[in-house]
Amino acid sequence: MPANTVVPFVDLRYQHQVIEQEVFTSLTDIARRSSFILGDEVQQFEQKFAQYCEARYAVGVGSGTEALVLAMQALGIGPGDEVITAANTFVATVEAIAHTGAKPVLVDNDPVSYNLDVAQIEQSITSRTRAIIPVHLYGRPADMAPITSVARRHGLYVVEDTAQAHGACYIGRRVGALGDAGCFSFYPAKNLGAWGDAGAVVTNSEETDLRVRELRDHGGTHKYEHRRVGYTSRLDTVQAAVLLAKLRYLDGWNDERRRIAQHYQESLSEVPGVICPTADRDNAHVFHLYVIRVPATQRDTLRDHLQSKGIATGIHYPKPVHLTEAFAYLGYALGAFPVAEQCATEILSLPMYPGLALTKVDYVTQEIGQFLQRKPELIHRGTS
Ligand SMILES: *Cc1c(COP(=O)(O)O)cnc(C)c1O
Repeated sequence: MPANTVVPFVDLRYQHQVIEQEVFTSLTDIARRSSFILGDEVQQFEQKFAQYCEARYAVGVGSGTEALVLAMQALGIGPGDEVITAANTFVATVEAIAHTGAKPVLVDNDPVSYNLDVAQIEQSITSRTRAIIPVHLYGRPADMAPITSVARRHGLYVVEDTAQAHGACYIGRRVGALGDAGCFSFYPAKNLGAWGDAGAVVTNSEETDLRVRELRDHGGTHKYEHRRVGYTSRLDTVQAAVLLAKLRYLDGWNDERRRIAQHYQESLSEVPGVICPTADRDNAHVFHLYVIRVPATQRDTLRDHLQSKGIATGIHYPKPVHLTEAFAYLGYALGAFPVAEQCATEILSLPMYPGLALTKVDYVTQEIGQFLQRKPELIHRGTS
């Protein structure tokens, strides 16, 4: 991070401190055993993580994107199929669909939850649709009950993109095994992050578990047995050791994220023009990101102002997927998903990580308040 940064966007040092000794001991042991591929730690982590997600199975894979690809392929999704997901997700969700050979079909998001607009799913279903991928965006569970009921009515699979929602609960149940498969990323900055790329597929289906196990390791679970065309996409033993150490702290770190979110909410409630994430009483949001909205005319200048005060922010994401160059081939025009397009011009992600001091949150919110109140003539949306 630059020397003048007062509040970084993410800071992983707090997490590292508590696990460092334990992880270094494991790493020495793994190196001495030369147990780099599918060592004991991988299986231990898979067991603990399945338990944590209240699922029967978890399979460690190379990344969150690969978790999505392998889960879909395990369910038999491929060329000629269509898979429905949200336009306002990280590009990886849609990339994964494209990699299976299926066609991504996008729907708009709900303007309050920022998750896939459930009311728009049904009209996007065709005879080729095979699955729906709800993304629990920013750590907030998507509305799974109506999604699974639409899926059931039409005989579709539900594959959760849980890359931003480790530990989140939907009406008292952990996300991940609410549908046919849940796909986690352990990219370092995620709520549960490795020291490199890593991911997992969680499922209650024995068959899906076995198929993903085959796909991640050249199409078989035994050496030189290749039952299908697979990949090199195993969770590294080294990463499994890091994840095993961190998993014990995940609930505490998620509680901390919620406390920080609550503090942002209280401090920003009086600032005109700021829309905070709404409370979700039924579900446990894990605030992978804390995303506010401000008038589009002020978003970028506010961001510059915060930067000048040493406060780093992010935009998740600057372009809905249908407007990226990579997915222009899907043929969606500007205006296809008006909510996602408008949100993209207004959203701003504020610093959020376990260990972020509330005094720093106060500094961030004071700077936002001062900046927005300085320019009342530009605010097009009041608090009323
Ligand atoms: C991070 C992320 C992914 C991809 O995970 P990788 O481990 O980086 O491949 C997929 N979907 C969403 C919503 C993500 O945030």
